[in-house]
Amino acid sequence: MTSIAFIGLGNMGGPMAANLVKAGRKVTGFDLAAASCDAAKADGVAIAASAIDAVKGASVIVTMLPAGKHVRAVWGEILPHLAKGSLIIDCSTIDVESAVEAHAQAARHSIASIDAPVSGGTGGAKGATLTFMAGGSAAAFAAAKPVLELMGKKIVHCGGAGAGQAAKICNNMILGISMIAVSEAFTLAEKLGLSHQALFDVASTSSGQCWSLTSYCPVPGPVPASPANNGYKPGFAAALMLKDLRLSQEAAKAAGAATPLGAHAADIYTAFEAAGNGGADFSGIINYLREQAGKWS
Ligand code: NAD
Repeated sequence: MTSIAFIGLGNMGGPMAANLVKAGRKVTGFDLAAASCDAAKADGVAIAASAIDAVKGASVIVTMLPAGKHVRAVWGEILPHLAKGSLIIDCSTIDVESAVEAHAQAARHSIASIDAPVSGGTGGAKGATLTFMAGGSAAAFAAAKPVLELMGKKIVHCGGAGAGQAAKICNNMILGISMIAVSEAFTLAEKLGLSHQALFDVASTSSGQCWSLTSYCPVPGPVPASPANNGYKPGFAAALMLKDLRLSQEAAKAAGAATPLGAHAADIYTAFEAAGNGGADFSGIINYLREQAGKWS
């Protein structure tokens, strides 16, 4: 049976590794944080003393780390120790350049690799309902898919090395911009004396319809499960949205794409975070916009 190593057992990696255990796989994990190791151990993950120890005997290696520099460092450390024929999968959200470089590192060691960032948040990680956006060769994707299916419900092959990261940041740039657009519409409606429900009933079945409105409405009421009904507890923290918007702007700059609304959305979330809201759900941006009343003309 496939033996899996899992490096990075935090808010996402912990429950993802636990789902691999639940599916009957032998999982050996490592994380720098003792608390993450303890939680994963309670879920049945065998904890190794180092990343190098964790990958010994593994045929599939998954990394779920904060940023590109961590992925490059960890892959650089473990790649020389991987068994011939093994597969390495990075599920972190990182910059496209680091993802492409990580694939090149793996290729230098003749190891198959996939970038497979996720959407679905901690709820999706716990429930094994994540969407994976994968980049890499067709053969590497075919090998990765059965493993990813144990942690998610939709697995999309987006193209070659780095294509998964490209899809992730393009999607989240749409999300950041559309959440601000929906929030602006509600703040304008409030000033015009239009009820939240009336705007929702019209826009949700008209040309303003989008996920930020119909699944994640930033005002309480119309969509009972949205974080607006729960004091804007995440959900998807504003700091993570800002991270993804910044990655989109780095990529746009490097590739020479014009993304003026993406740039503006990053500025707005930067101000929201600077005001102490990084830990709030990103839909809380509506409260920031209300505070800006009279400051924009
Ligand atoms: P987290 O901070 O909870 O977990 C990251 C873990 O990596 C930590 O436990 C940390 O100790 C560990 N780590 C860092 N460097 C390490 C190293 N060298 N060796 C071993 N372990 C190391 O973050 P998270 O919320 O689990 O997010 C992980 C990734 O998933 C990020 O790239 C994030 O952008 C992405 N993501 C998160 C969410 C979410 O809702 N939290 C949603 C989608 C994508």
